[in-house]
Amino acid sequence: MLALHAQDASSGLKLKQLPVPSLGPEDVLIKVYSAGITPGVMKLLKMGQSAVPTTVGHEAAGVVEALGENIKDGLNVGDRVRLHPILSCGECHQCQLGFDSMCDEAAQMGFAKFGERTGLYAQYHDGALAEYVRVPRRFVDRLPDNVSFDIGAKLHDAATALRVLKLAEVTKPNSTIILTAPTGTMGTVTLKLVKFFPNIKKIILVGRSKERLESIQHLTEVETVVFPISAPSQDSKPSSGPPGESIPGPPQPSPIVRQLRELAPEGISAIIDYVPAGPTLSQILPALATRGTIVHMGGSPAPLQIPLVFIMSKAWRLVGNRAHTRDDAQEILDWLQSDQLVISDLITHRFPLKDAHRAIDAIETRDEHVWMSIIEVIPEKV
Ligand SMILES: [Zn+2]
Repeated sequence: MLALHAQDASSGLKLKQLPVPSLGPEDVLIKVYSAGITPGVMKLLKMGQSAVPTTVGHEAAGVVEALGENIKDGLNVGDRVRLHPILSCGECHQCQLGFDSMCDEAAQMGFAKFGERTGLYAQYHDGALAEYVRVPRRFVDRLPDNVSFDIGAKLHDAATALRVLKLAEVTKPNSTIILTAPTGTMGTVTLKLVKFFPNIKKIILVGRSKERLESIQHLTEVETVVFPISAPSQDSKPSSGPPGESIPGPPQPSPIVRQLRELAPEGISAIIDYVPAGPTLSQILPALATRGTIVHMGGSPAPLQIPLVFIMSKAWRLVGNRAHTRDDAQEILDWLQSDQLVISDLITHRFPLKDAHRAIDAIETRDEHVWMSIIEVIPEKV
């Protein structure tokens, strides 16, 4: 079978002919129709978070090609399914609480290990940018008839955006939130989901390009305001006090913060931060309301340039996240099945598997507007 494969952490991804995986008694072989592609695969490989050699790709939907001998729960060959790529032990404290993506053994097939222990990932690290993928039965969901394979694959990102919105905990009616770097997959699908969070009445879209920010405003009925900002100049000082142990005074609001406060006089209830690098969060953070929440999901290596005393005195919550839970994915599936949620208009790019490198280039250079990108392994007949 054809697969997008990494031999090691440094030599890049190559299309390769590999044997179709053989099945254990609890395994399902999925014939992949659609697979998602996201930035960051190469970064994680280089960071040593991924098993190698491996096949990459963690978002996929297709049909059941074969079943392990112990699977007798009604799943049949030919059934339409999606892969839930977040492996977990199913037994630990986090799993019992429903936070399976926080399991010590949590890992994403075709992507990387997140938890401390390797668990199922050692056996099931091979992902779905391939003609076939082998998946433990526990991580296979049936796909409703009205949900296309493309959407079945990209449901993964929608479920993560749902988790992020839940973590923002916007409980105050008529709240304003900020969405940073909102013009990619996560930002656009977050806009689609905001309607399920009725306390959010206004969204300030913070990014570099006014034109790209304006191009996503129609994706939600909720009021949006575009707020293009540029990086601070080299000699501008961060909004922090003097170094050392002394307690700094309140920061002088920058022009950016003053403008944000004019847009939201009662303060920003939450910042959902999808910025993958750079100082944006530090630039806008002083506009956050007392008891406001920051959910960081951009995976940025940049430090937060603000004295901790402001986090204390403003009672801010800074929340991280890792993917989504099984329940989040099911909630998205239910909304898609009932047509309460439509995200098919977010798919801007489709590539055949043989052009996977072109797909990765498009998503990494972002020369074009890429919202959701699909690898069509087998085009679905409509
Ligand atoms: Zn667990």
